[in-house]
Amino acid sequence: MKALVTGGAGFIGSHLAERLLDLGHEVAVLDNLSTGSIDNIAHLKGRSRFSYVIDSVTNEPLLAEMVDACDVVFHLAAAVGVKLIVEQPVHTIETNVHGTEVVLKHANKKKKLVFIASTSEVYGKSADVPFREDADLVLGPTAKHRWAYACSKLIDEFLALAYWKEKKLPVVIVRLFNTVGPRQTGQYGMVLPTFVRQALASQPITVFGDGTQSRCFTYVGDVVDALVALAAEPRAIGEVYNIGNKDEVTIRGLAERVKALAGSDSPITCVPYDEAYERGFEDMPRRVPEIAKLRALIGYEPKVGLDEIIRRVIDHIREH
Ligand code: UDP
Repeated sequence: MKALVTGGAGFIGSHLAERLLDLGHEVAVLDNLSTGSIDNIAHLKGRSRFSYVIDSVTNEPLLAEMVDACDVVFHLAAAVGVKLIVEQPVHTIETNVHGTEVVLKHANKKKKLVFIASTSEVYGKSADVPFREDADLVLGPTAKHRWAYACSKLIDEFLALAYWKEKKLPVVIVRLFNTVGPRQTGQYGMVLPTFVRQALASQPITVFGDGTQSRCFTYVGDVVDALVALAAEPRAIGEVYNIGNKDEVTIRGLAERVKALAGSDSPITCVPYDEAYERGFEDMPRRVPEIAKLRALIGYEPKVGLDEIIRRVIDHIREH
């Protein structure tokens, strides 16, 4: 298989590129390094089936050429991270909507299989946990910029499904739940690398809100395994899949586990949401995936538990 990974110098994209290469596939990465980093793919540069171009998916002549040369597109290039989304809402909406629009348009010419990376954020404030792929989605008002991320990804989903329905372009939509592991940066607000850095530097571990909100963290290796398995499964086409782990932890609980595993003396402090993000910021109290649909199709079962994930992130951040 010849794969094009947009956003391939990002956290998840670089792990996917590596796994595909390990499996003997050919990989081309397209990344503008807006949130990705060349360091993430530095170790892949010498590999014979690997190539990369530093540019944007919105460079259409280049994109057209790269799509033409591949069999499958993993479209992971996007604006991500709640902090980035709240601070740069125009950039978020334009990047996420337009990027997917051009990827689908060019993939459609020769009907190349496209994976669209969506997000658990689309379930919004729904209290109907665990979240099933066919559940209603509950978002907040447009004045709260956080919801622009979910909306931009939902437009991507609608557009991809429209291409499938109307033009028979093979698409697969994956809703990624909080994905964590080595190479993820805390720069755009993600909680685990932020907590680990704070713990290792003996700085206060900043729990936003009261820390009773919960999340389910999935190891990036489990996510890329699921993507690779889905790419080989024709029955996935035209469908939406959650990719996640059902093991739920409160954010305070996460802070305590990071502190213990890092052997840190950091205090754990609470920061009000208004201070952490913006006035009136809305967070979701729980986010748990239903993964039965993915399990039924590819026998998916996440393998790496939270303590092991935290240990691997600690080791990675210590080394770098
Ligand atoms: N969070 C936190 N401290 C931080 C960063 C994030 O307490 O320094 C919280 C955040 O408010 C949310 C959870 O951790 O409740 C997960 O945040 P993240 O941005 O990693 O992902 P989200 O689930 O919001 O997409």
